[in-house]
Amino acid sequence: MIRQANYSESSRIITVLTEDGSQVPLMSRGFNKPKSPFIVLRQGIKEALFTYNRFKGMGTLNEVDVIQPFKKVNGDFTVYTYGSYIMELITHALEEDMKQDSFYRLLIRSLGLLEGESEPAGVTAFTGIKMLPYYGGQINVDECAVCGTRDRSLFTHYSFSHHSVICARCINEEIKGIVPISNRVLYLAGYMKHVPIDNVESVNISKENGRLLLSFIEMIYDEYTGVYFKSRRLIKSMEDAGQ
Ligand SMILES: [Zn+2]
Repeated sequence: MIRQANYSESSRIITVLTEDGSQVPLMSRGFNKPKSPFIVLRQGIKEALFTYNRFKGMGTLNEVDVIQPFKKVNGDFTVYTYGSYIMELITHALEEDMKQDSFYRLLIRSLGLLEGESEPAGVTAFTGIKMLPYYGGQINVDECAVCGTRDRSLFTHYSFSHHSVICARCINEEIKGIVPISNRVLYLAGYMKHVPIDNVESVNISKENGRLLLSFIEMIYDEYTGVYFKSRRLIKSMEDAGQ
């Protein structure tokens, strides 16, 4: 379930993202009643089997069975906030009548990584990297824009005038819009850009590297996309509070 809105005192219209990546709006009668059969959908992020009738347009929800309750994600406020950020990164790019089965796979994979032992900011960065092209953004971390070297061990900066990494040998005052980025973070960004979604079993990086990687990806989003995510502000305020 990716969205919900009250329709009447007792009913809600929910929108689910299906396995083939399409959005289906469903009238859920009795959703708000105390003994609602859809009570499992009231809180948290869940993967569920939805049984509904639909000819076209709006369907009618009959039954819900939760397949993956994401207990860890829903039970830890910090992890949940990263989960919400991942939901935003993916659902914000959905368009009406557009099927993107990769969106569903990425969502389930990313939430599954959060549910495991993966580093939350690192998983969120992974989702952000995979979603970047759908917001019209790009990230070039494979070769130095000046000399063309593909030796990742030399990458130390990202240039927003060259839209690319720059290696340590090519850094000089004439290159504008340059930001120092740790070599490790640039390596991780390149790995995550190219690895197939379904091949990622875990994101085992330090909390420090996870945050640095996510900051780098957010810098790319700020530069190339006009999109802003509510959860990002929440995570920022949590970090500022020292959590
Ligand atoms: Zn170079």
